[in-house]
Amino acid sequence: MRKKVQTKTPMNQQNSIKKTPQRRCVGCREMKSKTSLFRIISHTFSNEGLQIDLNQKSPGRGAYVCRNRECIAIAQKSKGLERSIKCSACPEIYTQLKAEVER
Ligand SMILES: [Zn+2]
Repeated sequence: MRKKVQTKTPMNQQNSIKKTPQRRCVGCREMKSKTSLFRIISHTFSNEGLQIDLNQKSPGRGAYVCRNRECIAIAQKSKGLERSIKCSACPEIYTQLKAEVER
């Protein structure tokens, strides 16, 4: 008969996992980590339209949308980005976002 060896698993839970900031998608309204979202900012200086902030480092008011066509489509329908950033309608941004998803 074999002795059953009980291996004690250390209860050292690794809490050192880096926390990524969570942002809400204007499409599905779910909280996601910034890395899985597009950041869209407004041209605060020119007040003209929206821009994808690919580096997520530009200052200014931003809105977030998931990197998938569904959420972009919802955001487009509900004008989520415009409402979130409080700027006028800007259809080009959705075209740009979809192009980014396709890449
Ligand atoms: Zn989403």
